[in-house]
Amino acid sequence: MRGESKKMIKIVKIKARKAFTSTKIPGANYVVNQYVGCQHACRYCYARFMGKWYDYGEWGSWIVVKENLPELVRGERVKGKVYMSSVSDPYQPIEREIKLTRRVLENMDKDTRLSILTKSDLVLRDVDVFKKFKDIEVGLTINGFDGRLKREVEPFAPSNRKRIEALRLLHENDIKTYVFVSPIIPDLVDVEQLIRETKRFVDFYWFEFLNLKASGREFREWLKQSYPESYDVISNKSRAERYVKEVLNVVKKSNVSVRGICVHYPKICNEETSNKRN
Ligand code: SF4
Repeated sequence: MRGESKKMIKIVKIKARKAFTSTKIPGANYVVNQYVGCQHACRYCYARFMGKWYDYGEWGSWIVVKENLPELVRGERVKGKVYMSSVSDPYQPIEREIKLTRRVLENMDKDTRLSILTKSDLVLRDVDVFKKFKDIEVGLTINGFDGRLKREVEPFAPSNRKRIEALRLLHENDIKTYVFVSPIIPDLVDVEQLIRETKRFVDFYWFEFLNLKASGREFREWLKQSYPESYDVISNKSRAERYVKEVLNVVKKSNVSVRGICVHYPKICNEETSNKRN
């Protein structure tokens, strides 16, 4: 049986040259990646492209640990928003032992405008450090994947139930929270229900539709075989655009605060999201 504790992981320790890297990721000016690679091994992960530079095997089987990041971050200051992290999950299982993310946060300038995103309830361990930042938001990726679907696409990430409970507890601790609803896939993700389940303890939302291209050939083949109707909708331009419009209507009616909507169909994105950013 697959499980966090049974997985063999190759750990590669390196020294980085700098802590913050400028980025074009929506809503951020810099990223901080204390890890590269991710034990959560999500099948659709867009960060798999990092394998081009770090050729250590299958995505999810290795982690690069930038062991000097806690020292580097102490000496660096950046203006603008920092996103943690873009090519890993800062609270993947190894973090429980080596506390690299925690040490980076402890040493980071507390004036840094920071946005953290994770799929793990381990994030709750660091509430005391979050409280020291003047401007911080903590997000959980929620998509409702459960049972067989969850085992197939997010085999090692904590359950959506645990993620929602983490949001609730962060909110109870006065930490600004957000939900990143991603990847939105026709028939597999019920956006209306996810909003209903989370809106009481969430400050704002990001929505992201599946980026079929970035999800990679293996994922595309799997989706085509396992959920042909979902694949047909998302891979057909006019059907995909209709689907996106339907979901955007659901979002509009739900009356929640929306920070951004990532749609990989530019025509719809321009028409429907220009008035949705706050
Ligand atoms: S948790 Fe995020 S970074 Fe990690 S494998 Fe999943 S999608 Fe990729």
